[in-house]
Amino acid sequence: MAGAAYFSSDYPEARRRFAEAAERAGARLTSYGHPERGPNGEELAADVAWLGPEDAGRVLVSLSGTHGVEGFCGSGVQVGWFDSGLAAEQDAGTAYMAVHAINPHGFAWLRRVTEDNVDLNRNFVDFAASLPDNPGYDELAEALCPPTWDDATIAATRGVLRAYAEEHGPSGLQAAVTNGQYVHADGIFFGGTAPTWSHLTLKRIFQRHLARAERVAVIDYHTGLGPRGHGERICPAAPDAPVLGRVRDWYGEDFTCPALGTSSATEIRGFNVIGMEEALPGVELTAVALEYGTLPTEEVKLALRADNWLHLHGDMTSAKGGAIKDQIREAFYQDADDWKEMIWERALETQRLALAGLAG
Ligand SMILES: [Zn+2]
Repeated sequence: MAGAAYFSSDYPEARRRFAEAAERAGARLTSYGHPERGPNGEELAADVAWLGPEDAGRVLVSLSGTHGVEGFCGSGVQVGWFDSGLAAEQDAGTAYMAVHAINPHGFAWLRRVTEDNVDLNRNFVDFAASLPDNPGYDELAEALCPPTWDDATIAATRGVLRAYAEEHGPSGLQAAVTNGQYVHADGIFFGGTAPTWSHLTLKRIFQRHLARAERVAVIDYHTGLGPRGHGERICPAAPDAPVLGRVRDWYGEDFTCPALGTSSATEIRGFNVIGMEEALPGVELTAVALEYGTLPTEEVKLALRADNWLHLHGDMTSAKGGAIKDQIREAFYQDADDWKEMIWERALETQRLALAGLAG
């Protein structure tokens, strides 16, 4: 299997190949244009390809680019699913909906966040209510995002983070940094102050295209957490949620759940499945994130902090800016055939199990 051939090297190529592959497979395309542009003036959009009956009761959904730059991974899988002919595996009563680059701005600009520095997977909270607090992040905010970025600053702030980990444990540090925060708009893992464009667009897509569905399976492609190339199926549900029973029926014990403490991810707030549920009341929704490892956690976090500094204080066109962009790309996309093959094989297995689950 030549899975590695399906992956693109930048957003415009990924978008073009997705549209071409979808068209060749006979899928119907709908585009949701983004108001801003990419780094080379290119148009940005979340693109939706629908294959199968319009009124299908069962729909398999794949989602790429929730975290912008992580979109290389999911985009490759989506192109491959159409181009390899595997999309034909779905039965007559099932449709397949691929949502390409739901955060196109982050994908094009090689950022994990949206155009407003928002972590889309922390943005699905009720902004009319009081927002979750994160005192651990407050304590670390300055060390995580210092105004200068050089070897001395990196070493000094690393010391602060290590001290925090010694006091609260490595998982305490991970929770403080990654659970999400709603106070530091210039920080990392910022959940925003209102629903961002990608949030509203995801709900619009789900409401418009899935209104007639009864059973929906979602696979949301992510990278940057866990061992290199390993694909962890993460179900972000409460320990007593009915969806966990279905996930177990479909995927066996080969899944994790942050609320059960079995995942490499912590219990984050405001993840996108909340928005999917709000958009599809009464629909049976079985959603997992497929999270692939790239580099060691500390290197991934360092790349995120560097990128945050670059967009706040640095110059994208400088040599330093270019080096940081290389660093962040590497942290979320391993441009190596062995990694891509692992992504592809695990994605196929997961999508096939989801199709079987939907049919069962
Ligand atoms: Zn992600």
